[in-house]
Amino acid sequence: MRITKEEWYMQIAETIALRSTCNRKKVWCIIVKDWLIISTWFNWVARWEAECPENWCSVSDSSWCHTIHAEINAIINTARLWVSIYWAEIFVTLKPCSDCSRALINSWISKLYYKWSSDKYETWHNIKIEDYIETFKM
Ligand SMILES: [Zn+2]
Ligand SMILES: [Zn+2]
Repeated sequence: MRITKEEWYMQIAETIALRSTCNRKKVWCIIVKDWLIISTWFNWVARWEAECPENWCSVSDSSWCHTIHAEINAIINTARLWVSIYWAEIFVTLKPCSDCSRALINSWISKLYYKWSSDKYETWHNIKIEDYIETFKM
C-alpha cells in the first residue's frame, strides 16, 4: 500500500536519525517546502567533536550533552545554501524543546509534524508551540 507523504517524510526522519552523534537521544528533522525536502539534519555536536562524551551525556544526566538540536542544525543549513524556510513545514522525530520552538516560530514555519514528545521538555516548556504553528502528532 502507498504511504502518505507525511508518513514518508517521518520514515525518512526516523531512519536517518541514526546519524546523530548523541549517545542518549537520536533526533532528526526534515524541512519541507512545496513538498520538496529543502533542509535536514540530526542533533549534532560541533564539527570537530566526534560525539557526545560517553560518560557525560547519559539518560540520567543530560546536562553535559554537547549537541546542537536537529531543528537548529536544519535552520543553520538553510543559511549555508541561501534557502528560505518562510512558511515551510517541519517533520521532527521529537517535539521541539523551548529554544527550538522559539526558533521555529521566528522562522515562520507554518506546520509542525512530530512523532514523540519528552516529558522533560513538556515541563520545561514555557511556550506552547501549538499556539503559533499548526501542529500534528503522528
Ligand atoms: Zn548527547
Ligand atoms: Zn531543541
